[in-house]
Amino acid sequence: MSQLETALDKLTIAPWWEDGVLADQERLAPALEGVLERVERARGSARMPASLLLTGPRGLGREWVAVELAAMMTCPGGGARGCDCGSCTRVRKGIHPDVRRVPKPENRKHIVIEQVREIVESAAGHPYEGMARVWILEGAEAGNLGREAANAFLKVLEEPPPHARFILLAANPEAVLPTIRSRCQQLHLPGSVAMAGVSSDACAAPELLATVGAAAGELVEATAVSLEEALGGEPLALVLAARRLAQAGEPYQVAALAALELAGRNEGSEPGEGFVRLAADLLEAGRAARTLNLKSHDRRVISCFMDWYRKEISA
Ligand SMILES: [Zn+2]
Repeated sequence: MSQLETALDKLTIAPWWEDGVLADQERLAPALEGVLERVERARGSARMPASLLLTGPRGLGREWVAVELAAMMTCPGGGARGCDCGSCTRVRKGIHPDVRRVPKPENRKHIVIEQVREIVESAAGHPYEGMARVWILEGAEAGNLGREAANAFLKVLEEPPPHARFILLAANPEAVLPTIRSRCQQLHLPGSVAMAGVSSDACAAPELLATVGAAAGELVEATAVSLEEALGGEPLALVLAARRLAQAGEPYQVAALAALELAGRNEGSEPGEGFVRLAADLLEAGRAARTLNLKSHDRRVISCFMDWYRKEISA
């Protein structure tokens, strides 16, 4: 057995994402291309940072972007966007030896020190076949990265070996330790755009949609009032808004968040970054409250509601 094969054998490649997380990539891709384009431009001007912090709600596109970025970083052919060479294809399939996903271990509260030690030990090594070695850390928030693990990881972030690249994923950048955050280039993903990836097959009954629409409308209104209060010097209002949204039922909550974000987007030509971030934040708050247990029926309702809302807002 060759040295390379022995080394490959030792790798414990984490299972690529669970079913569904990467499934909507074809629908998400056009909306998220802008992020990849920015990275491509940075690389062209040699401003490519070793570490990226990708922020956006989990399961709504950020994993897809991480995989595409990893493909671009490792591709021996220059890594143009959408390149379909053997290397890029292996990255997308989750079988490229230079690209590793670092998830929270099952039955553990956070990414543990052993996982980070493994990164630190192998980061200095040469790539097996690509131009770089890439680690994708899933959930870089302080609560998901143990203190010990964070400290160990910080050292490798401070002085990354020449071939090492890190892609950190987080729903809420504010929850990432400032020492880690400051060493990464941040890229925000639009959350509601990603919502377009929620498959809409059969639409639910119109009367159900109407109910959801009315309730979400009230929530959006209440959240808008809280935002104004917060901007007027009452930051506590935001906490209350988050709590209110977290307590709302699933379809209402998601619809309200998406609506909020669309409202932010309509303020100017650029997407309202603050709103996007707030939406991700609130969505995460909702998750914490265990209200995001999507049933397939609810997913359809949300999807239909979103279609309806988009038509309303563009009318
Ligand atoms: Zn390629």
